[in-house]
Amino acid sequence: MFFVECDECGFAVGFDYPNETFFFCKEHKFGVNVPNDDLGINHICKGCDKRMERYDLYEEDNVCPICNGMMTMCYQFVKD
Ligand SMILES: [Zn+2]
Ligand SMILES: [Zn+2]
Repeated sequence: MFFVECDECGFAVGFDYPNETFFFCKEHKFGVNVPNDDLGINHICKGCDKRMERYDLYEEDNVCPICNGMMTMCYQFVKD
């Protein structure tokens, strides 16, 4: 598992599924990675009921969608 974190605004998304896509709400600095089967559907932010925007990590070159800062990729090793 890995997660990306923005150095500037602290926005972070954990990746639980094998894809490079997440959906985010700019207002709430909230991002979520979803299963491949759910990439085609709309995701709604629980905080504001607005449709979340889609972000493809490698296509967008790791630039934070919230503040345009650089996002760092971190790897997390999960203990069994
Ligand atoms: Zn940021
Ligand atoms: Zn929101």
